[in-house]
Amino acid sequence: MTDSRYPNLFRPLDLGHVTLPNRVLMGSMHTGLEDRVWNWPKLTAYFVERAKGGAGLMVTGGIAPNRRGSLAPLASKLTNRWEVMRHRKMTDAVHEADGRICMQILHAGRYAYHPFSVAPSAIQSPITPFKPKALTAKGIEGQIRDFVRCAKLAQKAGYDGVEVMGSEGYFINQFLVPRTNKRDDEWGGSFDDRMRIAVEIVRRTREAVGDDFIIIYRLSMLDMLEDGNAWDEVVALGQAIEQAGVSIINTGIGWHETRIPTIATTVPRAAYTWVTRKFRDAVSVPLVTTNRINMPHTAEDVLARGDADMVSMARPFLADPEWVNKAGADRADEINTCIACNQACLDHVFQNKVASCLVNPRAGHETDLVIEPATAKKKIAVVGAGPAGLAAATTAAERGHDVVLFEGMDRIGGQFNMAQRIPGKEEFVETLRYFGKRIETTGVDLRLNTRVDADQLAGEGFDEVLVAAGVVPRDPKIPGQDHPSVLGYIDVLLRNKPVGRRVAVIGAGGIGFDVSEFLVHGEPPETPDPDQPRPEDFFHQWGVDMEMTRRGGVDGLKPEFEQPAREVWLLQRKTSKPGKGLGKTTGWIHRTSLKHFGVNMLAGVSYERIDDEGLHIRIDDKPQVLDVDNIVICAGQLPQRELMEGLEAAGVTTHLIGGANVAAELDAKRAIDEGTRLAARL
Ligand code: FAD
Ligand code: NAP
Ligand code: SF4
Repeated sequence: MTDSRYPNLFRPLDLGHVTLPNRVLMGSMHTGLEDRVWNWPKLTAYFVERAKGGAGLMVTGGIAPNRRGSLAPLASKLTNRWEVMRHRKMTDAVHEADGRICMQILHAGRYAYHPFSVAPSAIQSPITPFKPKALTAKGIEGQIRDFVRCAKLAQKAGYDGVEVMGSEGYFINQFLVPRTNKRDDEWGGSFDDRMRIAVEIVRRTREAVGDDFIIIYRLSMLDMLEDGNAWDEVVALGQAIEQAGVSIINTGIGWHETRIPTIATTVPRAAYTWVTRKFRDAVSVPLVTTNRINMPHTAEDVLARGDADMVSMARPFLADPEWVNKAGADRADEINTCIACNQACLDHVFQNKVASCLVNPRAGHETDLVIEPATAKKKIAVVGAGPAGLAAATTAAERGHDVVLFEGMDRIGGQFNMAQRIPGKEEFVETLRYFGKRIETTGVDLRLNTRVDADQLAGEGFDEVLVAAGVVPRDPKIPGQDHPSVLGYIDVLLRNKPVGRRVAVIGAGGIGFDVSEFLVHGEPPETPDPDQPRPEDFFHQWGVDMEMTRRGGVDGLKPEFEQPAREVWLLQRKTSKPGKGLGKTTGWIHRTSLKHFGVNMLAGVSYERIDDEGLHIRIDDKPQVLDVDNIVICAGQLPQRELMEGLEAAGVTTHLIGGANVAAELDAKRAIDEGTRLAARL
């Protein structure tokens, strides 16, 4: 496929005993399915779909080499011959689908979520409640033997290779840096001693598995921690493991305890590939680069400018298993793009739920959410082209139904038209591009600027009507709220109403946080562009040294955010910490960003009234006046169900989905999931 638009992406990669058909690695992702024996058929279906979709090489989620190294009690491990069979079934199925798969060996070390964890030194991590036991020298030898045994079992199980997880702050990484390795024996002290375990694991694994087996080493190139590795140490490790026999070096960025975003949507596309680029002259084995690569043109640019030999993408394969085939067939506009929200993948993993995807609810559910042709064709109306309506309409049309999609606005997207305007959420544009294209390919009859009522719907003879009319903003009923200084979030984000320099935001939920982020930035571009945010600005803002002259890339640096465009007060009635309910893995980013922009976050507020003096509030029963130019209300939402009564009276079969169904705790994940699942049943 070298004559494609992406010649570098589709250039085969010769590893000696095997040639990969393209330069796309599906990076390791814990799905939660690997942890239970009965879920392995589901895991197999998940990988087979991605193999068929064209991934050059896939890597499984982390599998522990022993119990102590497992992430949590009963998490997946490969330590016995009798465990090989379930892996074998999966690798056979992947090979039948013309795919290639490596197994990641992950030893959690002090990141293990159980009391039996081991590490180079007995230092508890800031993100787990258990203090690890420091290993003896004999214990370390035992861990190395377990890595090698695990790799040999993986070979028996039919994998094409293994990935040794040496980054993200897990076990091996913990040996590399003085912060977590305080040993004074041959496994600590000088860097040669600290890296010994990594080199020994690779060397002994190569000896055990022979030449015709891929060994990938995931190397932490940028720790982003005080006391992390210096660049010359990173290079020395790369050269030593090359000597020890790795086939490929994959890039690791940050530790789990790092407080700089690494993969969230605020990270610019391909922001970290410069790190791999710096490494290229040091070694001759193929290098894989990673983090926030989600579209073919981005991946192609990275390879064309020589940052790496291969790109790794993980979440984009949850969003679209066919990513590679679509890119290869010049159908990039049909790719369902990962918007880096973490809401259904990483957030699920941290909540012990099966990982899925906000934009593709079939991810991780390939066997139970099956989209099949309908047995009887129906005439279906969908009211509202927000995420719920878009998912429902296109899924129903794909199944062969006749679908009319009514939308009152002049464009599709519903609230995503506001979300995409928030600085750092430009990726949401891609979801609307995807659905726009899918409307075309599935043949949905889209009627924009058509706000329908129950009579009209009842008169058109639809077999079923899906009401996806979304929400209306909640009225907080604050005395004086009809004052000209008061705006709603829709006024600000959609209607471009002017906003003054001093602003109070009422309501610190997802929308209150987003509106505050919008307000502290200068004028936003009219058309959001996900390619626009610049890595240089991002690293300057968060305090990362792109010259790599500092340990871990961050030693001695502090975040430097620009001056806020406005002074903002973000208010809530609850006494809990504002932003507590935001996403598990991204909430801290929103809170940190607003803190650096100087937003005043106030909890335990009661709203008294609004007048020419400003917003009168009370905290701890003490009255105060916020002398602001504008007050923006973000006080939650209520379902919009005005159509229901008329439709029911007319005897039309009606379904409610998305915000129109339940507005409380609604997000796009639930809206798309509900829309897809309902349409799959109709
Ligand atoms: P909506 O998106 O509200 O769409 C309803 C549509 O129906 C609208 O287009 C409306 O015009 C149309 N309509 C209504 N009545 C009629 C009628 N009678 N005839 C024709 N058309 C009609 N969610 C997340 O998961 N993650 C985020 O990061 C996130 N960020 C957000 C940021 C902002 C600023 C906002 C405002 C929302 C955000 N959300 C986010 C929430 C997410 O956008 C909503 O949960 C989602 O859009 C709800 O989808 P829906 O289809 O139910 O409704
Ligand atoms: P929300 O998260 O429910 O927050 C509503 C806020 O309004 C709360 O802070 C609440 O806090 C306040 N409030 C509620 N009733 C009020 C009243 N009568 N008077 C004054 N304040 C009141 O809802 P949202 O911010 O509107 O967001 C809507 C949905 O979009 C959310 O469910 C969210 O999941 C989704 N979203 C997600 C993201 C994301 O990043 N994942 C971003 C944006 C939106 P108090 O009651 O304490 O005052
Ligand atoms: Fe990407 Fe969000 Fe889907 Fe995760 S849930 S794969 S971050 S779009």
